[in-house]
Amino acid sequence: MRRVFGANWKMNGTVAGALEFLERMAGMGSSSVSPELVLFPPFTVLPMLRESAVRAGMALGGQDLFWEESGAYTGEISTGMLREAGAEWFLAGHSERRHVLGESDRIVRKKLEKGLRNGLKGILCVGELREEREEGRTEEVVRGQIDAALSGLEEASACNLVVAYEPVWAIGTGLTATPEEAERMHRLIRQWVGDLGGAVSPEELRIQYGGSVKPDNAADILSRPSIDGALVGGASLQADSFMAIVRSTPDGQ
Ligand code: PEP
Repeated sequence: MRRVFGANWKMNGTVAGALEFLERMAGMGSSSVSPELVLFPPFTVLPMLRESAVRAGMALGGQDLFWEESGAYTGEISTGMLREAGAEWFLAGHSERRHVLGESDRIVRKKLEKGLRNGLKGILCVGELREEREEGRTEEVVRGQIDAALSGLEEASACNLVVAYEPVWAIGTGLTATPEEAERMHRLIRQWVGDLGGAVSPEELRIQYGGSVKPDNAADILSRPSIDGALVGGASLQADSFMAIVRSTPDGQ
């Protein structure tokens, strides 16, 4: 299975910074590694990155999208706009959108459905809050998010969908799930996706781990058989640390 690594820049980065990042990635040989690499910069930066992204062997993605194509939706961005800007991927259900901006499972589903239907590839982010974990509700919460997003979703397949398991308490905190905990959740997610009986083959589905992945913990996390890559925030802002994470797997050499 081809691993996939996402660099989620959140609300960080400039055109100059992104061009420099891609040049540095290319200089470190990013175009010849076997994992798939995707950069999610701010929307405004996307159109200026196409050529450099090709040289770096990286695809581009939007950090979000809206479920209508045009109209009176101030501040939103459509799949057509993203595609025009060079994006092939999008994120749906990132915890900052769920918990800072109040996006419900219903909204995440609408975004995922729209993006996949319009030919983009999606990363569906799921994960429990610290309180939910402490209450012993991790499985219930994550399964609920998976079911709400994927149940009956005909557009989804293992070719256009990646799931990112990102425990919310681990995002940007320096805390990480242990590799054993992450592996256990990834196996459960695979099982739950299989239970839905849709077109997403659970064996072929790629499931990333996300939450404070850094060069010094990546090898341990990524050595687990059900962990097929990482979604990286903070450590993806520098090409050197992002590339060190990619290179921590045997196929990233
Ligand atoms: C993320 O934004 O998805 C993320 C995992 O961030 P960080 O790596 O900074 O925890």
